[in-house]
Parts: sequence; structure tokens; C-alpha cells
Amino acid sequence: MFDPIAEFGGKQMKSFSCKDVIPGCTTTFEGQTEEEILHKVIDHAKVDHKLTDISDDVLKLVRAKIRELE
Ligand SMILES: [Zn+2]
Repeated sequence: MFDPIAEFGGKQMKSFSCKDVIPGCTTTFEGQTEEEILHKVIDHAKVDHKLTDISDDVLKLVRAKIRELE
């Protein structure tokens, strides 16, 4: 039986929508791990939202909103 998750080495893509933390932002992120997404989110927050100091609370909020893609 064909198993798409096994075909990609068991890696499931995850995604995060910035608007879940910053309403109105349309940027979304995808990655294979939470860390990969977090790095992209931090860069985006610095550049586009001028958030130079991202607290652990914000990172927790982002982690909580990361979803597994089907
Ligand atoms: Zn954003």
C-alpha cells in the first residue's frame, strides 16, 4: 500500500501562519521541523514587524500554533 509519509522519509511538513500571532499578517511558513519554522519566523518578525527582541513567551505562542500539514 502506498504511504506518502513513508515515501518522504517519515518527515511530515509543518506550517505556521503569522496571523495567528500577529493579526493581519498574511505570511505563512512551512518546514519539516519546528526549529526550521521558528528560524524563519524570527527573521520575518525582525524584518517585517521590527521585533528585534523576541521573548520566550512569543516563541511558545508560535510553537503552540504550528500545525502539521495533512
Ligand atoms: Zn508577520
